[in-house]
Amino acid sequence: MLHRTFIYSPLPARVIFGPGSLAELPTEFAQLGIGAALVLCTPEQVALAESVAALLGKRCAGVFAKAAMHVPIEVARAAREQARAVGANGIVAIGGGSTIGLGKAIALESDLPILAIPTTYAGSEMTPIYGITAAGEKKTGRDIRVLPRTVIYDPSLTTSLPRGMSATSGLNAIAHCVEALYADNGNPITSLMAENGIRALAEGLPEVMTQPDNIDARSQCLYGAWLGGSVLGATSVALHHKLCHTLGGMLHLPHAETHAVVLPHAVAYNAVAVPEIMKKVARAIGAGDAAQGLFELSRRLGVPMSLRELGVAYQDLDRVADAALQAPYPNPRELSHEGIRALLENAWSGRVPVSNSASQGKAGTER
Ligand code: NAD
Repeated sequence: MLHRTFIYSPLPARVIFGPGSLAELPTEFAQLGIGAALVLCTPEQVALAESVAALLGKRCAGVFAKAAMHVPIEVARAAREQARAVGANGIVAIGGGSTIGLGKAIALESDLPILAIPTTYAGSEMTPIYGITAAGEKKTGRDIRVLPRTVIYDPSLTTSLPRGMSATSGLNAIAHCVEALYADNGNPITSLMAENGIRALAEGLPEVMTQPDNIDARSQCLYGAWLGGSVLGATSVALHHKLCHTLGGMLHLPHAETHAVVLPHAVAYNAVAVPEIMKKVARAIGAGDAAQGLFELSRRLGVPMSLRELGVAYQDLDRVADAALQAPYPNPRELSHEGIRALLENAWSGRVPVSNSASQGKAGTER
């Protein structure tokens, strides 16, 4: 039953989805009216970018193959300069969140349209969120100019994503969906997308672990990632993302792995405030309890299960808890230092999360 008011304001998106859909690139590109594209990629994906350049033929003005995690400002400047130098009037970003993020850094200053071809499950292609790192600090913002105009989702480009990255990137996408379900600016449509995103990923990821080349499983995961990116772009994020941003910023932890470790514990913390939503999450992953179901899923996928494994020192937990309470994001459950500290300790140890308020003040069970 609908019992609250909401605003539904979808972002414009043109999505071409399906195995082999990369072949649509020249047509899609022409529709955007782009005559000279700068193709972006990381050094690891240069062969793929070259194949895209070949597909574009005369419409490719150059390849910039230096995309790097968290968009360092120096890389953004070099890419902007190359875009100017070759007279690019459009960007093709092929790769994960780092490459698409670089495209956004160019678009932010130039208004150039982006055509994104995602090859991970990060979901950046569906959001107007950008981030640029300068002097060790990542500044993020929202600007509709950085939202890709067209997104080509070709699951066959994701079969090369290693198992470990597939798992952590997929859990990152699940995190987008989970937090959208209890976002203070969510709505029934984003909730539908979020629940289905969790379901698609929870079904697809275990299959990808055993059969990385299985196109049906890869399609399922990429579909879930699309939904995850869409709801991330449309709603605000809460405690889970705040903790990941704090841990990532202070301790330089890897993005997707941090999400994978923290999510079950953030869910356990929030469960008491939004029990009906947690039932949806549990239903979508086929578990009795959302936090424990997510924890079990992570274990099945073989991802790191503790902050300790990611190299976090026990002594850092207090200052991370302090920092996470500064400028907090809207969250369904009130934040207390004691509660966040206990959550972090559980995540640090890799304990099974327990979804009730009483458990947040003390340790869970050792796994
Ligand atoms: P990534 O883009 O950094 O990619 C990691 C590595 O995997 C790179 O070397 C890349 O070349 C390689 N790779 C990507 N796809 C591959 C494939 N199919 N096969 C083999 N190798 C492949 O990783 P990511 O997790 O996609 O992105 C993380 C970044 O994206 C972070 O900086 C994060 O903050 C940002 N992000 C931004 C948003 C947003 O809305 N702005 C959303 C999610 C993530």
